[in-house]
Formats: sequence, structure tokens, C-alpha cells
Amino acid sequence: MRKTYLDNNATTPLHPEVKKVIVGSLEIFGNASSEHFFGQEARKAVEDARKRVAELLNAKPDEIIFTSCGSESNNLVIKGVTCQDLSCKALEESHPGKHIITSQIEHPSVMNPIKSLERQGFKVTWLPVDKYGLVDPALIEKAITKQTVLISVMTANNEIGTIEPVAEIAKIARKREVYFHTDAVQAVGKLKIDVRELGVDFLSLSGHKLHAPKGVAALYIREGVKVCPVLQGGHQERGLRGGTENTLGILALGKACELALRERESNVKEIWRLRERLREGILAKIPEVIVNGHPEKVLPTTLSVTFRYIEGESILLRLSSKGIAVSTGSACSSGTLEPSHVLLAIGMPHELAHGTIRFSLGIENTQEDIDYTLEVLPGVIQELREMSPLWPGNKRAC
Ligand code: PLP
Repeated sequence: MRKTYLDNNATTPLHPEVKKVIVGSLEIFGNASSEHFFGQEARKAVEDARKRVAELLNAKPDEIIFTSCGSESNNLVIKGVTCQDLSCKALEESHPGKHIITSQIEHPSVMNPIKSLERQGFKVTWLPVDKYGLVDPALIEKAITKQTVLISVMTANNEIGTIEPVAEIAKIARKREVYFHTDAVQAVGKLKIDVRELGVDFLSLSGHKLHAPKGVAALYIREGVKVCPVLQGGHQERGLRGGTENTLGILALGKACELALRERESNVKEIWRLRERLREGILAKIPEVIVNGHPEKVLPTTLSVTFRYIEGESILLRLSSKGIAVSTGSACSSGTLEPSHVLLAIGMPHELAHGTIRFSLGIENTQEDIDYTLEVLPGVIQELREMSPLWPGNKRAC
């Protein structure tokens, strides 16, 4: 069966050059903290990789901390900035306030630690978004108080792809002397990310979203910004993240960042062309669909589409049986199918949110993948609609 992978926002396949680096680095087994030759070999490799990550972001190598995943990077910022441990050295100089500003469409790895702080007594402003998923920077300016310790707004949304006005928000945050974090897990490698131009204090990225393996990620922390460690242990990562470095993963991430710097522009051009082919094909061939997210300020890799009158889960399973991998706009947790908080936040009613599919493209996709999807999808939608009592074209409709 032909296999078409259109779920790159969930995770990406390894880049062939990253695979080579992984194989090559299997022999580098030393502990990067050891002073002997084996350790120094690992240390040099880790520091080279740090330089490559920094180059991609226009940061300094010392501003990059390696972590295990994007979720850990997000947790480190949120818990590290709001740390209440008075013995923590970083706290002396950090903001003592208990107010956080974030959006209603963040990834759970931002929302859940913030909800946890809310339960512990922090005040949280959950910013609404417009119908495209855009945050209004003016609302942020209004929400800031003397107590505001952190603003966290994602660079681009993982479900609908909308790109947020991060530079504008950073300007406001800087003027009002509030730390600003952006979760750029879906944006790095797809958008030009220059931390100096953006003016952010923290930025999260994750290896497996840019063709490196799972289990490695990074956090940019602007020089001079204080944060308490969450994973306490040894002195690794400037004392901000205990634990022996994942040398193999870090080297792979370094290579993925080097490739992203070199290939991003040409990759993105082609991916956007394929995305537009898919979007136009769906609109031409299938009635009663809604394309979600901002029409222009959107990730080139992401196409979120709502198919009225049917369930996204059924579409996903049928496409999967025909070799096409996509994801729904719903998060299935602990056996209950909840509609996506992102789709609800853009004002979509529950029943439409349930009929949403996210197609997410990557460097491995070809025009044949898109044409195959456009060949299969209309039939799948038609079949499901014919079974749906909600479909007006169905004679059985009540
Ligand atoms: N932030 C965003 C926007 C994401 O899309 C994801 C993963 O889907 C994460 C954070 C978490 O990244 P990780 O899977 O590396 O923990």
C-alpha cells in the first residue's frame, strides 16, 4: 500500500543526514562532564552542537540549554521563572509577582503548568484569540500589572498553524519589564527565527519536530535572564538542567539545526506549494468545508480543514486504512473525546470542531502524495456523509 505521511506537526521523520550523524556518534560514549579524553571528546561534540542550535536562532551558544523535549523546555521556563523557593539563587534577582499572561490556544505543556500555578494562587490572564487564532497585543498591554511575572504566547499554533505577533508582544513585554516566553516548537525550521530581532527572553524548540530524534530539545534563555532549575541535579547545562547530557540526541539536534539554517527557505517554498495544491484541491472537490487558521499568517506546513456533518476520527481511520496519515483537531484524553481547545477558542461550535482534520506537510512530501490524497479524500468524505443523519443530501436526514 502507498504510504503518505501528512502528520509532520505530530513528529517528523529523521533527515537522512541526521541519521548519519547518529550512527557516527554511537562511538562517542564518554560523559561530557568527565575530564579525560573520552569525556572531552563528548564535551567538544556537545558544544559544537550548541553552536549550531545558537546559529539557527541567532543566539549565543551560552544562551542555549539542552532539554529532553519541548514540554520540558516549556515547563522549565514557567516553573523556573515563578519559583517560590527563597533559597534559590536565581530568585533573589527575579520578579516576585504572581501574575501570568498566556493565550487560550497554547500547547498543553504550557497550559497545564500554568493551570497548576493558578491552583497554587497565581492569577492568570487567559487571552482570547480572534476567529483566525490571533492574539491581540493590545490586550496584553492592558493585562500587564505590577504583579506580572511572565507572558507566554506561542510563535505558531500546532493545530491551525496561525503565526502570532511575537515581535510586537516582545516589544511590549520589554517596555514593561516583564519576561516573555514563546513556544516555537512548531515554528523553528519553518519560519525565520531570530531571537535578537524578535526580542524574546525565552524560546522553546524540540528536535523531533525538525527531523532530529525524540528525546532532545532546547531552550533559549537570553543572556542575563535568571531562572531556577526544575530538574535539579549536577552542574550540567549551567546548573539549569541536571542530568548527564544526551550526547547522541544533542549531536543529532545540532545537525538538524544546521540543515534547517541551510535548507529552510527552499524547503518551505516547496512545502507551501504542496499545501496550496492540497487546499485548493479540497476546496474544488469537496463541498461544505472550512479552512481554519489565518489565510496568510500561517505555517507553510499546516492545513486545518473542517468537514461539516461528519467526525474527524472516522475520516482519520478511513484515510489511515488507505495509507494516508493525518490527525484530528481533537485531543483524545483518558478515553473521552474532547473537542480541541484551540478550535473552541476560535469560536467553532463543538460539532464542527469534531469534524476537523489537520494535514501537516514536511520535507519528505511530494506532489504525488498530495495528488493521491486528493484522489482518496473526496470518496472518504462522501461515504461518511452518506452515512451521516446530519448531511442534508442524505435522504435519511431528519
Ligand atoms: N509545543 C507545541 C506547540 C507542540 O506542538 C508540541 C508538540 O506537539 C510541544 C510543545 C511539545 O513538544 P514535545 O513533544 O517535544 O514535548
